Amino acid sequence: MLKPTYQADVVVVGAGVAGLSAARRLTSAGVSTVVLEAAHEVGGRMATEKVDGFRLDRVGRLLSTAYAELHVTPGLEELVLRPFAPGVLLHSDGRHHRAGVQPGSRRARGARSAMGARGALHAVRALASAPRPGPRRPVAVPGRQVSVPRNRGGAPLGTALDQARLGAALNRLAGTSTERLLARPETTAAEALHGRGLPARTVDGFLRPLLAALLCDPELVTSSRTADLALRDFARGRLCLPEGGAEALPQSLARSLPPGTVHTGVRVTSVSTTSVTTAEHGELRCAAVLVATGARDAAELLPGLRVPDFHPVTVVHHTTDEPPGTDASLLLDADRGGPVAHTAVVSAVDPSRAPAGRTLVTSTVLGPATADTDTAVRAHLARLYGVPTARWETLAVRHTADAAPVMRPPHDLHRPVRLLAGLYVCGDHRDGGAVQGALRSADRVATALLTDLGLNRPMHTADPLPTARAA
Ligand SMILES: Cc1cc2nc3c(=O)[nH]c(=O)nc-3n(C[C@H](O)[C@H](O)[C@H](O)COP(=O)(O)OP(=O)(O)OC[C@H]3O[C@@H](n4cnc5c(N)ncnc54)[C@H](O)[C@@H]3O)c2cc1C
Repeated sequence: MLKPTYQADVVVVGAGVAGLSAARRLTSAGVSTVVLEAAHEVGGRMATEKVDGFRLDRVGRLLSTAYAELHVTPGLEELVLRPFAPGVLLHSDGRHHRAGVQPGSRRARGARSAMGARGALHAVRALASAPRPGPRRPVAVPGRQVSVPRNRGGAPLGTALDQARLGAALNRLAGTSTERLLARPETTAAEALHGRGLPARTVDGFLRPLLAALLCDPELVTSSRTADLALRDFARGRLCLPEGGAEALPQSLARSLPPGTVHTGVRVTSVSTTSVTTAEHGELRCAAVLVATGARDAAELLPGLRVPDFHPVTVVHHTTDEPPGTDASLLLDADRGGPVAHTAVVSAVDPSRAPAGRTLVTSTVLGPATADTDTAVRAHLARLYGVPTARWETLAVRHTADAAPVMRPPHDLHRPVRLLAGLYVCGDHRDGGAVQGALRSADRVATALLTDLGLNRPMHTADPLPTARAA
């Protein structure tokens, strides 16, 4: 139990990935830190629910092995990333087409261990410089006739020439530095896609559904710079899921903190530069306060802080005894013929998410849930997978209104994290509006705090290398 007289150098409000990562950096630098979390579990939006042996994410979260933050954030060393099959599977006109596959992947220098190995991040793909392969044979939708490649206008990737142009564009993007991407003129992702000289069918059949899935933004109102960064990560790496569920990230970070750092079930009701007041334990005094909640809660504690609009997201989990035959692919609908933005047999990607012999299908709807969401999703899934879904069992339908901040242009990827000496803020709303943005904002705020506390030292090196023991 916390005592009202408890004092710490820094009190962090919120145990999402941003707050936990900042706490990890602070404690590693010797700063006594307390993290207060209103919920009974750590993780915030990256929660994983356990239902009948299934592990169900609230977020249909897609990570990329190319996210630098997953490799440099102290506390994530134990994270295991489970990759989807290369590229994505596009459904169009009753057929499946694999798209966006990077040729000749090899382990990048410094990548930690082999794919699938416990205690290791999966290999980061080398930058694509080789030419992309030609059109791939469409994969047969189970229950339908095996199709031959068609390069007619309606196919999602267009002609062989269209695909070569797409490959060249993705390769160029993969090799472009962050500085150069951020120096490009900024508009919406939708406008930028149509100004890049790519055929409309490539944009509408592949890039639009892919970006919608990556950004949680069906209309592509997101800043083109943020969209370019997301596409670049797609081109550089493999889409993947954290083994064990989204909660693996916050759980890893929480485990890396000194025992007793995190206190759950404690709601902060007000903050100042030297104290926080909690609903359960009164006032706690400290040298500095870091508000690491989502944007709306942060604005309640810090009046005047901007509250962005949010993309609402609904995630639907089903189980079936007859797994659809799409292996570990991420399936997108190029025809946009229903509410599902992306879907996958996630138990094929990460078997730990379902009991042995059971199948877990997770589908993401970009938008609010309605009374008939499950019915509409099942009907759409039947078309996408080409199998009847009437007998699939619904495990959960989870809706989050404030899932991801809208990042319209002009979008500042470096919103201030230091409000006053003693009062700081971090979270996805200060940066790129996603997990990697939340982690980057934690890095920036820890640097600011350590500087103000006179303890600064280079970030990303918080863990000293183990000293070799004499035999
Ligand atoms: C359904 C869904 C889909 C998503 N899909 C994607 C995606 O595809 N790609 C992507 O990049 N991102 C996605 N996201 C967003 C991603 O999950 C977030 O960017 C990330 O989790 C933000 O972490 P955070 O630490 O900034 O905030 P949060 O995870 O919101 O953590 C804040 C914490 O503060 C706590 N808190 C709030 N108020 C108080 C208080 N007064 N006192 C104490 N504690 C408090 C909360 O309980 C919470 O635990 C999705 C989110 C959802 C919900």
